[in-house]
Formats: sequence, structure tokens, C-alpha cells
Amino acid sequence: MVDVTVFRYGHRIARDKRITTHIALVARAFGAKKIIIDNRDEGIEEVVEDVNNRFGDDFEIETGVNWKKFIKNWDGLIVHLTMYGESIADVADEIKKHDKILAIVGSKKVPGEFYSMADFNVAVGNQPHSEVAALALFMHYITDGKWIDRKFYGKFQVIPQKRGKRVLEMDYVKMLRDEGCSQEVIDHSLKVQRLAMKIAERIKRNGIKVDMNTVYLASLFHDIGRSKTHGINHIVEGANIARRLGLPEKVVRAIEHHGGAGIDKEDAVKLGLPPKDYTPRTIEEEIVAHADNLTGNGYRSIDEVVKKFEEKAGKKAAEKVKNLHKKLSELCDIDVGELI
Ligand code: SAM
Repeated sequence: MVDVTVFRYGHRIARDKRITTHIALVARAFGAKKIIIDNRDEGIEEVVEDVNNRFGDDFEIETGVNWKKFIKNWDGLIVHLTMYGESIADVADEIKKHDKILAIVGSKKVPGEFYSMADFNVAVGNQPHSEVAALALFMHYITDGKWIDRKFYGKFQVIPQKRGKRVLEMDYVKMLRDEGCSQEVIDHSLKVQRLAMKIAERIKRNGIKVDMNTVYLASLFHDIGRSKTHGINHIVEGANIARRLGLPEKVVRAIEHHGGAGIDKEDAVKLGLPPKDYTPRTIEEEIVAHADNLTGNGYRSIDEVVKKFEEKAGKKAAEKVKNLHKKLSELCDIDVGELI
């Protein structure tokens, strides 16, 4: 699906809370990757995070972003949604050829510069209506309506009903089992998840942004590739399975990057993996990789882990594990071992 980021211009905290929240929720539900809001609004950030946690996805939000700087530095296509533009029906085919799109929606009158900065000024009908409707229909056109098939993985899923409501808790253990994971792998994964969530909560409490739903899913699914192989290739197999299941891309990458404290390209070649860098890059990936390092059938101390790495993977790998432990312990403000 196309990679769309939405830019919300002119958000007035007192007046637009509800409508900007709706833009964020429409962006998420209709398949955009991220929303950027010009004025800082922690309230909307919290709503999006809560929806992600309950209903799934790695949709991102950033507020308090200078529009001029952001739009000028954007390295993809820029689409400005405006009733004065060209018809979406005429330009959708051209727009969807691009793989990175910024869709700008206004609130009050937008600066004239928007019209010249945009590659496309696009109207969803040339009548004044709403930024929420304009965005929803824009997403519908450029995804050919495929946004509706997107899967969401959170704590709950809504089961469509003719009447009434049916909301079920997601059964991820069943998914692991259905993919062929053994009970041993499942027990280990649940332990890794417990520790990863503790680390993530602690880091988040210290004011660092952590995508909790990504940690929740990636820690549970990190070893799904062990349904195919217990060799190191389980990280690649796992990423392939996760992609097939429609898990969020951030989760797929965390699975692929969870080997030790990171397998660089040189080591990947030696290990017979497809040649690329498997180092964990984000805080979520680091948390999952290290929670896994500290977990076997039970939890183990960092000293035990370092010793095991020295014996089995060599000094370089052991050093990386030590450094990752140190980094996460600093972010936690407590030795990660104490969270076990
Ligand atoms: N009066 C404002 C102006 O002249 O720019 C527009 C206000 S309108 C409620 C807020 C936003 O909704 C616009 O900036 C635009 O992004 C979006 N919008 C409204 N009607 C639209 C349409 N027919 N096609 C595309 N976008 C539309």
C-alpha cells in the first residue's frame, strides 16, 4: 500500500481538538503511516496511542512541528487537499504511482505558499466541505479502496455483526500455535514479552517515546520463525511469516533485528544470512532483542548472558550485548536485571 503521511495545518488546540483527532483517526484507519500536527497537542497524541494499543497498528503521531521546515524538507510527493484543486478522479492514478506521499489538510485559510509548494492541489469535489471527508476519500481513491482490507493487531478486534456489538480479545498464543510454534517457544515468548513490557514501561515513564504496541507484538512474535527453523535464519523466516500475517512493518523489522544485540552485515554473511545489517535500530527493537537475550526457559543474569555470548558468538557479540544492557539500564534508570 502507498506510504502516506498526513500533515494537519492550523490546528487550534482549544477549537479543533475533536476535528483534528478525527483526522488522526481517519488517517490511521484508512492506511496512512503517520500524522504530523503543526501545534503541540499531547492530548491527541495520547488518544492515538490509546487507540493503537487497543485496536492495533504502528501508526505514528508527532505534534508541534514547524510546517515550513517540514514541508520544505519532505523528500516525496506533496499533495495539498483543497476545494480549488484538480479533481481527485483525474489525478489519483498519477499520484498513486509515487511511493511516498505527504497529504496536507488545512483548518483555517492556508498560506498561499501551499499551492505553489504542492506537486498536486487536489479537490474532492470543488465544493467546500470538511478536511476529514476530504482525507478519507483521498485515501480511498489512492488505495483503490484497498484500505478496507488492512489487518489491525491490538488487544481487541471487532467482529462485524448485523446487530449489536462483538469485540473479542486477540488470541496471539493461538496464532503462534497455528503457525506451528512449540509450547516451549510459546512459553519463552510470553516471558520475553513480560520483561520487554516492563523495560518499555520503565523507559516510557522516564519521558522517552516508546511504541508500546510494537513492543507488545514484537516481543511475543519475535521467535515465530522457530516454527520453521531453530537456526539463526529464524529471524528472516520470522519476518517473512509476520509480513504474510499482515503484522505492522515495525513489528516485522523488530523480529528481523532481534538476533543478539545485533548482527551486522559482515557477521550476517558469515552466518549464512541474506547479506544485510540486522542491527536493532529503534528503541522498540533494542528492548525486544535484549529482553530475549535475558530470557531462555527462565530469566538469566547479564553476566551469564555475556559469558554465553563469549563462548558461542565471540567477543564482539558479547561486547554488543554488554553495551545494549548498559544503554537500556541508563534509560530505565535502574539495572535492567532488577526488572526481572
Ligand atoms: N476556508 C478554508 C480555505 O479557504 O482554505 C478551508 C477550510 S476547510 C473547512 C478546511 C480544509 O478542508 C481545507 O484546508 C482542505 O484541506 C479541506 N477541504 C475542504 N473542502 C475540500 C474539498 N472540496 N476538496 C479537498 N479538500 C477540501
